[in-house]
Amino acid sequence: MKSEKVSSNCENMDLGDVFLGGGESTLKDRLGKFADLMARISKHRESLYRRTVCSAAEREVVVFDPGLPGPRKMLMFGSNNYLGLASHPFVKKRVTEAIDMYGVGISGPPLLNGYTALHHELEERLASFKNAEAAMIFSTGYGANVGMLSGLLRRKDSLICDEYSHASFWDGLRLSGVRPVRFSHNNVDQLENLLKLNRSKGDTYVGVEGVYSMDGDVAPLDRIAVLCRDYGAFLIVDDAHGTGVMGSGGKGTAAHFGVDEQVFVQMGTFSKSFGVVGGFVTGTRDIIEYLRYSARSYMFSASLPPMVVAAVLGGLDVIDRDPGIIRQLHENVKYATTVLKGEGFDVSPAAAIIVLKTPPWMNVRKAAERFHQANIFLNAIEYPAVPRTEQRFRISVMATHTKNDIDRLVACVSDVWEKEREHIVSMDPKAA
Ligand code: PMP
Repeated sequence: MKSEKVSSNCENMDLGDVFLGGGESTLKDRLGKFADLMARISKHRESLYRRTVCSAAEREVVVFDPGLPGPRKMLMFGSNNYLGLASHPFVKKRVTEAIDMYGVGISGPPLLNGYTALHHELEERLASFKNAEAAMIFSTGYGANVGMLSGLLRRKDSLICDEYSHASFWDGLRLSGVRPVRFSHNNVDQLENLLKLNRSKGDTYVGVEGVYSMDGDVAPLDRIAVLCRDYGAFLIVDDAHGTGVMGSGGKGTAAHFGVDEQVFVQMGTFSKSFGVVGGFVTGTRDIIEYLRYSARSYMFSASLPPMVVAAVLGGLDVIDRDPGIIRQLHENVKYATTVLKGEGFDVSPAAAIIVLKTPPWMNVRKAAERFHQANIFLNAIEYPAVPRTEQRFRISVMATHTKNDIDRLVACVSDVWEKEREHIVSMDPKAA
């Protein structure tokens, strides 16, 4: 295997160098580096950030491409609208009714004028969906993690969490003043050792994701829940990507493992399976009531608009009435896995995310551009979101994809890999 040096990603400056490498640099220095980087990216047209989507986030989307005279149709494999609820007719009907009744927004934070009957109804529905006593809703999933962690934890507490936890998890911890202890990804033995060694003066928490957003695998919650019980730790599960996907009726990863009653607090988002925006936290009634007055991102931020709340309620109705939608999602994931494996790709998704790790010789941005040109909308995950050696493409499967869509995707993946290999070999015959 060749070293990273073969790839031009490493030879050129990237966002990580600008933001992470500049500990001592002034804002002026960083702005200069940033401007150079952006000029280079647009010159080579390598950046596919902020593509303009001009249609609903369905299996096929219309994308405005500044390089072309008209819009182009692309197959969408980059949206977390896993169940296709973002444009489901029943969901749209509930949203329209909510707009007729409440207008588009509510203009106030939850503790003051930020609740409608729909907000109360949604909190009750989410509590029963997650088999919990109570639920509270936040304006974003990011805010749910930040508010929940900084609201619950105090400096003398300890938190042991998976190294692959989401940025919102780290930010919530930063605000709480707790210095987290990390265990390597899904390494339950290491977690147990850390629990054994833990000398916390306060409470002990363990933080994991149900489904890992960048890897698509699941936390072994059955084993982790037992450890938390044995060592007296509170288990927190961020189930952003498991809600609506895992477990019977989409109730989530804890339900999938049959441990939902052993989880102290669950967090979820409305920005994935429910196709809108927002987040929530479930737990016991006393914890949720406490968080209503200690989670600052809840108290000091405006409530979700009733139309968004109605969309989530509509989504819950669809999931209740049509369990086939989740079954179809899993069938699509299984089909995509089989076809990708048939083409020699090593993939083993546990939920709706399929990760394609890129070989060290591959220029991820060039490969992303090839997908774009072939009308496949796929997200490249680059450094600094992941380490340089672990850059990847992330395929998000939807229940609404057809087999033909998946066949087209896989044919394109094989083609891009082959073209990139040919390109790199033409530059350096020993490279790939
Ligand atoms: N947690 C995880 C695991 C996520 O993947 C995300 C979104 N990428 C969030 C939290 C934040 O959720 P939102 O985008 O809904 O704010």
